[in-house]
Amino acid sequence: MKKTVLLLCVSLLAVSALQAQSLEERFKKHLYTLASDEFAGREPGTRGDTLAANYIRDFLAGLDGVQLLANNGFQEFSYQAYRELNAAQCALKVGKRTLTYGKDYLPALTSATGTFQGEVVNVGEGKEDDYIGKDVKGKFVLVQLTPRSYTDGSEQRARERMALKAGAAGILMTGQPLSNLPARWPTGSIAIFKVTPQVAKTLTGKSVEGSVAVNMLTEHTFNIVAKIAAPKANNPQGDVMILGAHYDHMGVGEYEGKTKIYYGADDNASGTVGVMELARAISQRRAFLKKDVIIILFGAEERGLKGSKHYAANPVEPLDKVKVMVNIDMMGRMDAKGLTIRGIGSAYEGVDLFASLPNNDKLDLIWEFRGTGPTDYTPFYQKGIPAFSFGTRHHVDYHTPGDRADRINYEGMVMTYHYIENLINRLAFEPLNLTYRKTE
Ligand SMILES: [Zn+2]
Repeated sequence: MKKTVLLLCVSLLAVSALQAQSLEERFKKHLYTLASDEFAGREPGTRGDTLAANYIRDFLAGLDGVQLLANNGFQEFSYQAYRELNAAQCALKVGKRTLTYGKDYLPALTSATGTFQGEVVNVGEGKEDDYIGKDVKGKFVLVQLTPRSYTDGSEQRARERMALKAGAAGILMTGQPLSNLPARWPTGSIAIFKVTPQVAKTLTGKSVEGSVAVNMLTEHTFNIVAKIAAPKANNPQGDVMILGAHYDHMGVGEYEGKTKIYYGADDNASGTVGVMELARAISQRRAFLKKDVIIILFGAEERGLKGSKHYAANPVEPLDKVKVMVNIDMMGRMDAKGLTIRGIGSAYEGVDLFASLPNNDKLDLIWEFRGTGPTDYTPFYQKGIPAFSFGTRHHVDYHTPGDRADRINYEGMVMTYHYIENLINRLAFEPLNLTYRKTE
């Protein structure tokens, strides 16, 4: 009996602890899940991407007053993502000698496609000074990369760009493995090959002919779309605010020669979590909404805003009802209270709106006026919708495996959340409508 009472007390405590869970604790819970080993960096089209999409969809589905749109919350789409070599149609010949694909040479995924030929000129390390006094126009340059057991993408790109600038028809690189980092487009109109050191020794002064062919890989992923409707009487026009963030990241990749998970805790599990918790807060007060709120977690932002472009071109509900879009891309690494707001110029009322918004935590706000930038508010701005995007500044771990959940500034996330919540109070809980303005 005693034991039962005790157990009951304990479980009641557990329940009330759950209810009293602070915003910071909820952020942590979601963020450690989205940026976990299991979710493996949420690369579009991967298992981790699907796990993340399901986690977000299930969270939204569990909130009172939230209605899933599209296909049970998922708007599927596909697009051309990465290049892959079409080995059967690649070739490299030195004089009359045909080299073996993958053994003697490998085209780089950053190569232009087609057939190229020219005489080989040795330009040493292939830095700017190495080209002085050498005529390489229409020729192939031979470049010695720093010997490493892995592909150093940044060194390779720098040498490629230098050869392109010098007017070479092609570049042959040696010193690093015959392997490729992922690439989505060519460096330019230049043929790019890697060759083994043995082959490299035989090239200078010879004439080479090379062919490169690539296929594009199609990827499939989702936007997660849900709606919190205002009471009809509050919103007879059916006006809409969109609140969004991208949930995808870069997945697993090579970093300094090792295979690593790019966790994307800040970019953009943080913004995803911010939108999820804002959705919870909005849904709890939905009786007071003056606009419907459409929540979108975009897929494939890291592939070039694919998800937001897809939504803007294929909206689940009519875009002409959308009066404003609010986006969050990285709210996890606040430093010295810095918070950037993009798109202030996309509404005539933008300056007045942000000047009158409470800033209780005395954040150091940076205003940017352009309606376009490298994140998901851009396609909405381009459709004539006032659009704002929030982000804390870049940091050393940006787009590296170091962007981890344990490095997040959770207090900063809470401050950002409260700031954006004040904006949403004005935009969705007051009958305020903004007037679109072109910023450039
Ligand atoms: Zn991002």
